[in-house]
Amino acid sequence: MTISQLPLQFDFSLRRHNTFGIDASAHAYLPVTSLAILQALRSDAHASHLPRLVLGGGSNLVLTQDFPGLVLHMCNRGREIVGEDDDAVYVRAAAGENWHELVLWTLEQGLAGLENLSLIPGSVGAAPIQNIGAYGIELQERFHALTAIDMESGEILSLDRNACAFAYRDSVFKHSLRDRAVVLDVTFALPKRWQPDLRYADVAQELDARKLAQPSARDISAAVIAIRTRKLPDPALIGNAGSFFKNPIVTAAQRAALLAQHPQLVNYQQADGSFKLAAGWLIDQCGWKGKNLGAAGVYEKQALVLVNRGGASGQDVVRLAQAVQADVMARFGVGLEPEPIFI
Ligand SMILES: Cc1cc2nc3c(=O)[nH]c(=O)nc-3n(C[C@H](O)[C@H](O)[C@H](O)COP(=O)(O)OP(=O)(O)OC[C@H]3O[C@@H](n4cnc5c(N)ncnc54)[C@H](O)[C@@H]3O)c2cc1C
Repeated sequence: MTISQLPLQFDFSLRRHNTFGIDASAHAYLPVTSLAILQALRSDAHASHLPRLVLGGGSNLVLTQDFPGLVLHMCNRGREIVGEDDDAVYVRAAAGENWHELVLWTLEQGLAGLENLSLIPGSVGAAPIQNIGAYGIELQERFHALTAIDMESGEILSLDRNACAFAYRDSVFKHSLRDRAVVLDVTFALPKRWQPDLRYADVAQELDARKLAQPSARDISAAVIAIRTRKLPDPALIGNAGSFFKNPIVTAAQRAALLAQHPQLVNYQQADGSFKLAAGWLIDQCGWKGKNLGAAGVYEKQALVLVNRGGASGQDVVRLAQAVQADVMARFGVGLEPEPIFI
């Protein structure tokens, strides 16, 4: 395959390819349906030197300007059960598969384990990038391995959980493999001895309300879908990228000092003795909930979510994010780190 055979498009609008609905364009755009396409790109002297943006569902991005390079839109498909042992059933899915559809498909196969992660937007290939998490579970707890191509060396990488260096909304793909690795497929280990994970109070309450004392994985998925639908704006109706800031982690001493001044501080102890603060609560206390700055705003039902009020540019979102960060820093002395990637 040579580059002239690839379905490249130029001056391509990304408005429908980012859930913020920001109107930016890409110099060049290519749907990637196979590894061979990426290998053809690598062997082309011009294309291999263009700036690259790997794109899944565009649900964790802020496009701050037109992208001057090549957008590689992961569109490869496929999902299958690839094996089992005493502990787990192994499921492999291509990077271009939709995450939520994969979750539903595993449940239809009678496989539990991904239910708490229902309805997270985006693709399978992006899920390891920030180690997606919701309702008490992180991707790393169900992750087995992934395949990626290193676009610099051309090497095909097989990475296990350790190699991915997962942490809270973080992985090796945000550090040494940033702008290098393109994830091709991900394999999950779904536990045979499954226990419902009801650590998160909202989920337990929703199941109580449904009078489900011994919920199945499908019951939990339905509960999570109901909670998320109530709490989070649907990107098809209101542009957004989900939680805009990570929940900041502070030391026990910092938490004690904050609690002395703000007795209502919402915080959760972590396994290592540090404390996670609820970023949404901090933002709410600064009076931002429901407020706008230009065409960007803070969602009225959840202060952690920044939204496009209509026609917002990436710069509008950046200005609002900076104003929120400055107010939280001034009031609490706590820095908020954005969760989405700024392009
Ligand atoms: C309403 C809403 C709710 C959300 N809720 C949650 C939540 O509960 N928990 C959570 O963790 N996240 C949440 N998110 C964020 C988002 O859904 C996840 O981060 C998701 O994994 C992003 O997938 P994507 O395919 O849209 O990635 P994109 O936005 O397309 O890309 C995100 C990053 O991953 C890179 N990338 C994408 N695919 C690949 C690949 N195949 N190989 C290498 N790099 C790649 C991109 O270059 C970019 O840096 C939410 C977003 C929205 C809009």
